[in-house]
Amino acid sequence: MRTVIVSGASSGIGRATAERFARAGDFVVNLDVHAPPADAPTGPREGGGHLRWVEQDVADWEGVRTAVDEVRAERGRLDVVIANAGISVRHGILDLTEADARRTVDINLMGVLALWRHSVPHLLHQGGGVLLATASVNGTRGYPLYADYNASKAGVTSLCQTFAVELAPLIRTACVAPGAVLTPMQRAEYTDAMLDEVNARIPARRHARPEEIADVFHFLASPEAAFVSGQQFVVDGAETAGATTAF
Ligand code: NAD
Repeated sequence: MRTVIVSGASSGIGRATAERFARAGDFVVNLDVHAPPADAPTGPREGGGHLRWVEQDVADWEGVRTAVDEVRAERGRLDVVIANAGISVRHGILDLTEADARRTVDINLMGVLALWRHSVPHLLHQGGGVLLATASVNGTRGYPLYADYNASKAGVTSLCQTFAVELAPLIRTACVAPGAVLTPMQRAEYTDAMLDEVNARIPARRHARPEEIADVFHFLASPEAAFVSGQQFVVDGAETAGATTAF
């Protein structure tokens, strides 16, 4: 049974990913700053997997180190680490405060770095493993009103490249860069009218479901993806594939 860590698994993409891996037979430890929702499954799962919850802020460098060490000590191994926790706050550049920007970078970029960095000694010690993360199409474009978020996600893609090159051939990395996914994060930012407007702009004419991102993570962690490393997979219903103007 593989041991898998997923951060930000109390909600949205992380929760769907944790459940996807547990359903397929993995032992999944969820790190989240918030307690799991009351309806979150826990313990042994159908399919032979297991779900466990640990309250942990990914922006706490030493706290993440302790959490990872404890998982490894208890389980005896660590196979897949998915750094997914993230926040996003809309604000124009002139409204951006130092505190807002630092919080975004601390969670979205430093949080990935901490989780991956502290997992590496364990993965190397046992002969290998897979590091995955949730980036975003926002890291590939200058989406207005998301300067700090866009930059934090571009940083995640850069970590994915550097860890892959420096730690090959024992460790593989990959990022998933979702476009619009219908999760509590997305819902909190958009009114119904904004949601319709975004859907109209996506060639697929809809948001992704969190489960559709979870399926891509599951493939990237599988032996079928053994030669995939250092790359980012855009999963966006063709949102970023086309030109921005018709003529
Ligand atoms: P969500 O708000 O539903 O879930 C985010 C989870 O992260 C929550 O469980 C939250 O408690 C946790 N979290 C937040 N801060 C944390 C911290 N400091 N330490 C530990 N856990 C923390 O959001 P989501 O849409 O599922 O987003 C998950 C990831 O996907 C994020 O990295 C986000 O940037 C990325 N993403 C989302 C979308 C989208 O459209 N929803 C698109 C692209 C990328």
